[in-house]
Amino acid sequence: MFLSINKLKLVSTLSLLGISALYYSQEKTNPEQVNEDNLKKHIYFLASDELQGRLTGSEGETKAANYLSAEFKKLGLKPYEGKEFIQNFEYGVKLNPHDDKTSTAVKGKNVIAVLDNKADKTIVIGAHYDHLGLNEHHNSTLANSDGQIHNGADDNASGTAAVLELARLFSQNKTKENVNYIFALFSGEEDGLMGSKKLAETIKTNYPNTIFMINMDMVGRLNKDNNLTVGGVGTSPILSDLVKKYKPESINLSLDESGVGPSDHTSFYLKDIPVLFLFTGTHNDYHKPTDDADKINYTGQKIITNYVFNLANALGNEKEIPFTKTAVTATKAVPKYKVSLGIMPNYADTKDGMGIDGVIDNRPAANAGILQGDILTKIGKCEVKEVYSYMDCLSKIKAGEEHPVTVKRNGEEKVFNVKF
Ligand SMILES: [Zn+2]
Repeated sequence: MFLSINKLKLVSTLSLLGISALYYSQEKTNPEQVNEDNLKKHIYFLASDELQGRLTGSEGETKAANYLSAEFKKLGLKPYEGKEFIQNFEYGVKLNPHDDKTSTAVKGKNVIAVLDNKADKTIVIGAHYDHLGLNEHHNSTLANSDGQIHNGADDNASGTAAVLELARLFSQNKTKENVNYIFALFSGEEDGLMGSKKLAETIKTNYPNTIFMINMDMVGRLNKDNNLTVGGVGTSPILSDLVKKYKPESINLSLDESGVGPSDHTSFYLKDIPVLFLFTGTHNDYHKPTDDADKINYTGQKIITNYVFNLANALGNEKEIPFTKTAVTATKAVPKYKVSLGIMPNYADTKDGMGIDGVIDNRPAANAGILQGDILTKIGKCEVKEVYSYMDCLSKIKAGEEHPVTVKRNGEEKVFNVKF
């Protein structure tokens, strides 16, 4: 998941957080089943310390890419282009926050396989497998976490394992679908959807009738309320009925219309391909070294992966999947703000204030006496519910102004005067 507060350009999640509709329908079963042990095996390997957090361009990324290639090879799939499953690409990252001009070159590796059913239509099923490494690219949400391994079990060994399982199911089942499937495991996602952009550039040249893209990013933390967010439902008029029809009985869906979001489906939506995006939500370990394999809800992930299997089957049988542009466009940006408090926000999807995971020395929050662990509820009169309303509140403030900032500390409300 690409949700870095500095680079955030995603409005869709704003709407996503506001929408919470519950739908119920009959469970559809498929004879082939996702194997929970396989999911576990993949996630424990990908999120092990041996892979050092799978930073794009690192040795750990190469180890992961080799593992994924070997899995695709075992299934008898064919490479997307050339003789290898690995697709190389390059981009630059700006590593110095005080220097906007100098960028460092990064070499990434997508791993892409095709199940060629000799059909005239193609569906892409994807997930990113890269993560934050030792925080070399500064995308961590934990203060002072440089050098710590960010294992990225939920983000996104979970989605990667789901794609591997789906590749296994579709290539080993007896029925031959009248659609080809491309299984795409992206790198460079955490630096701004780089790998998926690379594939989206050539997809319509190589597979002109690419009718759909399904993306899974962070599908391993199905919570006790069984909430699953499905994004992209506005990208085709057929989708909202379809996702409800195949919904597993135990799951509560939150639907989001937008084709633009904080992950790789965006790259395909921007090429006029309808998309779906599955996501079990942010949590306390989001982009921290503690996003580990033992915190994954494997049974929940199995249910979601089976759901995607049924959706991918149903989409392959559709006569036509018309593309519609969604209301939120890529050019609309998150509120711009010039000031900051100097804190590390918590990304958990609560509605009663934003947790403060870290306070940076000598910055406005620290100077005013705000502490790590405080829950931010108001900036001036502006209410902070979570990270998005936090940014909205900041956008209304100019440098040099002073505002009372309200936090909850041990359940008690405290107000600090902050000079921005
Ligand atoms: Zn991420």
